[in-house]
Amino acid sequence: MHALNMSANQDRFDDLYLYIDGEWIEAGSRDTSPVINPANGRVIGRVPHATEQDIDRALAATQKAFDIWRHTPAYDRAKVLKRTAELIRERAAHIEWLMTSEQGKAAHEARYEVASAADYFEWFAEQGKRAYGRVVPSRRPEVQQIVKRQPIGPVAAFTPWNFPAITPARKLAAALAAGCSVIIKPGEECPATALAIGRALEDAGLPKGVVQIVFGVPADISSHLIGSPIIRKVTFTGSVPVGRLLAAQAARGVKPITLELGGHGPVLVFNDADLDAAATLGAANRFRGTGQICISSTRFLVQRESLDEFTEKFVAATQALKVGDGHDPATQVGPLSNIRQVEKTKALIADAVAHGASILTGGKPIAGDGYFFEPTVLTDVPLDAQVMQEEPFGPIAIVRPFDRFEDGMAEANRLPYALGGYVFTRDAQTAIRAGDELEAGMIGINHFSMVVSELPFGGFKESGYGSEGGEEGIDNYLVTKFISQV
Ligand code: NAD
Repeated sequence: MHALNMSANQDRFDDLYLYIDGEWIEAGSRDTSPVINPANGRVIGRVPHATEQDIDRALAATQKAFDIWRHTPAYDRAKVLKRTAELIRERAAHIEWLMTSEQGKAAHEARYEVASAADYFEWFAEQGKRAYGRVVPSRRPEVQQIVKRQPIGPVAAFTPWNFPAITPARKLAAALAAGCSVIIKPGEECPATALAIGRALEDAGLPKGVVQIVFGVPADISSHLIGSPIIRKVTFTGSVPVGRLLAAQAARGVKPITLELGGHGPVLVFNDADLDAAATLGAANRFRGTGQICISSTRFLVQRESLDEFTEKFVAATQALKVGDGHDPATQVGPLSNIRQVEKTKALIADAVAHGASILTGGKPIAGDGYFFEPTVLTDVPLDAQVMQEEPFGPIAIVRPFDRFEDGMAEANRLPYALGGYVFTRDAQTAIRAGDELEAGMIGINHFSMVVSELPFGGFKESGYGSEGGEEGIDNYLVTKFISQV
C-alpha cells in the first residue's frame, strides 16, 4: 500500500491510482491518460489505465467481497455509509477543489455537488434498513409464504465527467446499502473526485474489494466487465449511443441495466408566468455546469405574447453571468470540461446559423488557453437544425414561440428524450395539465432545483430507464425471491 497524498493542501492535486482489492495501485508500466485543468489547458495529473489482468483481479475480488458484504447486517452497512457521508463532509473543501481543478465547474457548484454526494450516502444508509420483504397469507394453513429481497450481486458502474461526485455517489450508495459489491469506472477526465470518495469509503471501514475503482479505455473495460459472468448488474450514466451499446452487451447475459442518458430539456413559459423568474432562474439553470447537465433546460418555449419581453429579460440575465476560472469565487460559469465539448458547441452553433438561426448573445469560444465559451442564446432556429435534434451539452439556449398549450406541448414532447422538463405558469390548471402531459422523468414547475437524494432521478424514452434516487433507487440492486415453506 502506498502512502496516499490527500493532504488538505489546496494547491496540490492528488496522486492518481487504480483501487483494486483494497490496494491503491500506481501507474507503473501501465498506459496513462492526461487529466487536464479546463480553465488553463494544463495537464495536472495522469490517470493509470487498468490492464486486462487488473480487471480480472478486480472481478475475482468483487465476487469474494460480495460474499462478505451481503452477509453484513444492514445496520452495520448503514454505519459505514453514514461514516462515509461524514468523512466526505469533513473533506469537502479539498474534494471541491479537486473537482473544480479537473472538471472546471464553479466553486459554488462543486460545493453543492459534494454536499449532495454526502447526502446520498446518508439517505441510502437508512434505506438499506428498509429493504423489507413480506409474509403473504397462505391458502393452506400449513404453508408459510415469504417474499424476500436480496442483493442482486456484483455491479459494474460507469459514470461520466460532468458530475464526478454525485453520479458515483448515487450508484455506490444505493448498491452498497442493498448489499452489493461494485466495480466502478468513473470518467477518465475527472478521476480524483471519485478516488476521494473511494478513500472516504475505505476510511469509513468498508471491507476491501467491496468497492473498486478502475480507469482505462472505456469500451475495453465495459465489454470486459459486462461480459463476465461475475457481474450481475450494470448501471451507466452518459450519452444515448453508449447507453444503447451497453444495453445490448448486457442483454447478451440477460443482465439488468439502469440507464441515465441524455436530454433536451423543454421549458414551457406561459403568458401568465412570472417572466422575471422564468428568465433569471432559466438563465442560471441553462448555464449552470456550462450547460453540461443532462437535465438542463435547453429549449425555452415561450407563449407568443410574452416572447419579446421574456427574450429581452433572458438575454440580459445571460449577459450578466460572470464566466471565469471556477476557483474564482465570483465565477458563475466555468469553462467547458474538455475540448470535445468546445468543438461540438461551435459546430452546433454554426449549423444552426447555416439553417437561418440568429445569435442574440454569445456564439463563440473565449480566446485564451482554457475551454471557455460565451453563454449563447439562439432564436429563429428551424426544427431541422442539429441543435433542435440532439442534446446541446454546452452553453447554448434556444428561444422559440408557441401559440396554444397543445402547440407548446407538441414541441416539448417532439424529441425522443424524456428526462428534465419545466413549466412556468401562475395558473394551477395549466400547471396540473402540463405536469401530466409533459414527457419527462423529472418536472420542475416554477423552479428548477429538484435533484436531492430522497427523490427519484431518471427518465424514459431514449433518456433511459430506472430511477436512481429516492426509495426507488435501491430497487435497482435487489432481486425478489419467493419462498414457500410447509
Ligand atoms: P461519450 O459518449 O463517448 O462518453 C460519455 C460517457 O460515457 C463518458 O463518461 C465516457 O467515459 C463513457 N463511455 C464512453 N464509451 C463507453 C463505453 N464503451 N463503455 C463505458 N463507458 C463509456 O462522449 P463524451 O464526449 O464524453 O460526451 C458526449 C455526449 O454525451 C455529451 O455531449 C452529452 O450529450 C452526453 N453525456 C451525457 C451525460 C449525462 O449526464 N447523461 C454525461 C456525459 C456526457
